[in-house]
Amino acid sequence: ADPLVRVDSLVKHYDTRRGLVGRLTGRPGVLVQALNDVSFTVRRGETLGLIGESGCGKSTLGRAVLRLHEPTAGRVTFDGTDVTGLGHADLKAMRQRMQIVFQDPYASLNPRRTVAEIVGLSLKLHGLTRDRRELRDRVAAIIENVGLKTTHLDRYPHQFSGGQRQRIGIARALILNPDFIVCDEPVSALDVSIQAQIIQLLADLKREMGLTYLFISHDISVIGYVSDRVAVMYLGEIVEMGPVEAVLERPRHPYTQSLLSAVPQVDKPGPRTHVRLKGDLPSPLNPPPGCKFHTRCPLATDVCRTAAPETRTVGDGHTVSCHLVTDDVRLAS
Ligand code: SF4
Ligand code: MG
Repeated sequence: ADPLVRVDSLVKHYDTRRGLVGRLTGRPGVLVQALNDVSFTVRRGETLGLIGESGCGKSTLGRAVLRLHEPTAGRVTFDGTDVTGLGHADLKAMRQRMQIVFQDPYASLNPRRTVAEIVGLSLKLHGLTRDRRELRDRVAAIIENVGLKTTHLDRYPHQFSGGQRQRIGIARALILNPDFIVCDEPVSALDVSIQAQIIQLLADLKREMGLTYLFISHDISVIGYVSDRVAVMYLGEIVEMGPVEAVLERPRHPYTQSLLSAVPQVDKPGPRTHVRLKGDLPSPLNPPPGCKFHTRCPLATDVCRTAAPETRTVGDGHTVSCHLVTDDVRLAS
């Protein structure tokens, strides 16, 4: 089956000359490479998990897929339509089908609007209701779907807990009955005790409404729990991708191995990879040449410092970009 979302060679550069600091200082602009040639698909009904450290470009990617950020180059295709080429009106229509849930529900909810107004706003903007009564009914229905009560409709965001606010954010994303949701760190701002409830809610809604998710998180245990497939990002590039069992149980990229060795696995005895990262994530203002991971990779050799590795297939749908991975598997198609 054709994928719901196809991302081809997506590139996003920021030119700091356009920023305030660049203009004030008059310094020559620096090109920030936020996304560098990113390609992947999201199949209908699946959850593609996107994992990586903060600052690696995950949120930029999520927003570029929805065209909340304009990509510098590359293409996003949604259900057969080239989203990158759409004009304003067509993009607005397409947005009914592609929505986002943000990390910090409080920052993204207007404090002066009631829940009914916040959740109902996009129905109004898209001209989808005939009257106030119908608007109210549709908002009430989705509010109950996310586990809140209709008595909450006329309250304001500050009157809710963090978990409840994220339920409001989810209701706002779902009110247009979309097909695809970018969940950008939807539980990272929440207490651990609340995280499981919101993850379960997102899973239930996915099943009931036939949704497809791009699920962004820096937390590998969350990614392992929610994902069908996983993409691992490092400095604006996907370095490993594949089915969740393959990537998390048989990781091949040293970066993926380092992410996993930080997770205690008391219930999983047996040989463990111990890859310890050196140093911090380099600045995307000045990414290392060659393999971008070489400044922190304990296995780096000379070639890693000068040449970017090819992407090789190492198993069914499992791809890795590392010079050490050379067993290119040719699968019968
Ligand atoms: Fe490490 Fe080299 Fe592989 Fe990059 S290409 S992950 S530096 S071994
Ligand atoms: Mg982010």
